[in-house]
Amino acid sequence: MQHVLDAITAGATGDDIAALEIPESYRAAFVKRDDVGMFEGMESWDKDPRQSVHVDEVATPELAPDEVYLAVMASSINFNTVWTSIFEPLPTFGFLDRLARESEWAKRHALPYHVVGSDASGVVLRVGSAVRNWSPGDRVTVHCNYVDDQDPSAHDDSMLAANQRIWGFETNFGGLADLSVVKANQLMPKPSHLTWEEAAVNALCNSTSYRMLVSDNGARMKQGDSVLVWGATGGIGGYAVQYVLNGGGTPIGVVSSPERAAILRDMGCEAVIDRAAEGYQFWSDEHTQDESEWRRFGKKIRELTGEDPDIVFEHPGRSTMGASIFAVKRGGTVVTCAATSGYMVEFDNRHFWMKLKRLLSSHFANYAESWAANKLIDQGRIQPLLSDVYPLTEVGQATRAVQNNEAEGKIGVLCLAPEEGLGIDDPEKREAIGEAKITTFRRHARQR
Ligand code: NAP
Repeated sequence: MQHVLDAITAGATGDDIAALEIPESYRAAFVKRDDVGMFEGMESWDKDPRQSVHVDEVATPELAPDEVYLAVMASSINFNTVWTSIFEPLPTFGFLDRLARESEWAKRHALPYHVVGSDASGVVLRVGSAVRNWSPGDRVTVHCNYVDDQDPSAHDDSMLAANQRIWGFETNFGGLADLSVVKANQLMPKPSHLTWEEAAVNALCNSTSYRMLVSDNGARMKQGDSVLVWGATGGIGGYAVQYVLNGGGTPIGVVSSPERAAILRDMGCEAVIDRAAEGYQFWSDEHTQDESEWRRFGKKIRELTGEDPDIVFEHPGRSTMGASIFAVKRGGTVVTCAATSGYMVEFDNRHFWMKLKRLLSSHFANYAESWAANKLIDQGRIQPLLSDVYPLTEVGQATRAVQNNEAEGKIGVLCLAPEEGLGIDDPEKREAIGEAKITTFRRHARQR
């Protein structure tokens, strides 16, 4: 791929890029079908992605008519790569095999390896014969909603499509690689003021938070709402805090260290709860929740904002769902998209129904929502959460850091980009938005 990088670095025209040879193989991060049983009998946290994620050459797949070849300049680690690499809750090869049964083109996905990664920024190299809106040379980011546009169920809200998938998790040929194949309807313009790695970290988490809070499909946050955000300096939480602030609401950010509390204050979030310092024990043992701890948590929120939250932005799952349902205000909404600490959740239904609360599920975002969220990044109204950067060769290590909750915001991964800081197309715009604002998470990580 060196010739591709050289051409991009030299500012080659679209025609020049279209003429570049597509290599027969490319470097990618993947897990192996043969390794699926390697962690059997171990606790989740002992399952180490450094053992299961490999980085090596894989064969370039053929290009379907509705796809493009993308030279991936940078990508990012999402929690789904943690799940794929520890083969939990299910090995992802089952997803690939199911996809492979759908069509001739889909058969390409069932392989002995699964190339992971659900984010990317890069340059379009080739377009399939049915692609209309994109051309070689276009600088893009990629959202991960992988839909079959010939399925009628995909034509209202595509997240409701019967066979909706997440690219790089439920499909092969993901973004943690030097090359990827993506559907044309996953592409979005790269925000012109960002570096490759800053542009690569947003699409999955930013779009998810947009749908959860802002979209008609989500909690429909209003000006003046107070919103409790778990993991408020994490991937989705860090975007959620920004959406609350942008939308005229009051975020209450929950984090687990003074350093994370400092990041929140830097972002303009004044109501902060350090859950580690408070020592909440919502579960007194494996089977029992402690309502007095929910009350102590609720009291803390009231001390900070004077009221119960209108919305709770929920994703830790088992550890926190009981507290979230308890703490949200009468008639308020808990919106959830995940279960990092366990998916069998439990809450006291009396608090739920007697106070007419609502529990809303959400999952990634459709193309329109992703596009709207990307536009806000492009306008500098939402900032990237890049905190750390790893080379592609260290995807296993970077995944381990996310699994261990060691990093704030998002970890970027340099794929073809040889170093950090490249890819800014509009330095004046960057200056107008403000370097300090754009790099809040990176600055805090570097100070440590
Ligand atoms: P992340 O960057 O690792 O952040 C998660 C944050 O949650 C951590 O920073 C941590 O913050 C907090 N947390 C972890 N365990 C907790 C617990 N037991 N109790 C309270 N807080 C806890 O991950 P992410 O990218 O934000 O993703 C979060 C979850 O959402 C993951 O499970 C991911 O798979 C899922 N997700 C789902 C979608 C979707 O479309 N459905 C999209 C994106 C992500 P503190 O320790 O600072 O409190």
